[in-house]
Amino acid sequence: MARGKKIYEGKAKILFEGPEPGTIVQYFKDDATAFNAEKKDVIDGKGALNNRLSEYFMTGLNQIGVPTHFLKRLNMREQLVRSCEIIPLEVIVRNFAAGSISKRMGIEEGTQLPRPIVEYSYKDDSLGDPLVPEEYIAAFGWASQQDMDDVLGLALRVNDFLSGVMYGVGIKLIDFKIEIGRVYDGDFQRLVVADEISPDSCRLWDMETGQKLDKDVFRRDLGNLTDAYAEVARRLGVMPKGTGPKPTLVN
Ligand code: C5P
Repeated sequence: MARGKKIYEGKAKILFEGPEPGTIVQYFKDDATAFNAEKKDVIDGKGALNNRLSEYFMTGLNQIGVPTHFLKRLNMREQLVRSCEIIPLEVIVRNFAAGSISKRMGIEEGTQLPRPIVEYSYKDDSLGDPLVPEEYIAAFGWASQQDMDDVLGLALRVNDFLSGVMYGVGIKLIDFKIEIGRVYDGDFQRLVVADEISPDSCRLWDMETGQKLDKDVFRRDLGNLTDAYAEVARRLGVMPKGTGPKPTLVN
């Protein structure tokens, strides 16, 4: 693939200039990090699974009219995306309590929330991505009120889509994080779902057993992370049945 020079290297991905202006090649690494990179490991096969799963979710969103940055998957580890300006927020949607909301509010993990809760963290590793009130977002100029209305709409549509897709394969979508980017079509700005959607950024529990099929397996040392992600991929038909724990991806 004719990828250009490296633009940015994050914890789980590397971004390269794409073959055409306005495009970026997103490379998925096998690195896993948690707790703001205090816990680190390299997990064979994770990058390829996340590339494939993110393609699956982003393609589905594009098809139902929820715009994303995704253009096409290039190979096992790379996908072509539209270049966009990322709003410096982690947009978190929660359907059931788990993780930080459980800790903060003393709600038992797995408790269904009265309605989906959308919250925002400011993307800054040195500050530990602090949770911020909406008031900060416009005041500090990260996004306008109009943008935030659109962000909320996108977040809830992604939640409905992902919850439904997961429900169909016996998985409960506990919560997830997305990032939103701005793309410019001439003078017009549009907001799109960007970054990735994968078990790295969602909590996914088996509906019957409650087994965790997401990055908490790594964060909490609950077993083999690739097996968990491969199970999600297998159920969604991204991997054929009967392939062993080693990810064998369908083209
Ligand atoms: O840790 P917390 O409970 O706030 O995480 C909520 C959701 O957002 C989880 O699905 C987690 O995987 C995701 N998340 C993320 N990246 C972060 C923080 C949270 O993908 N930096």
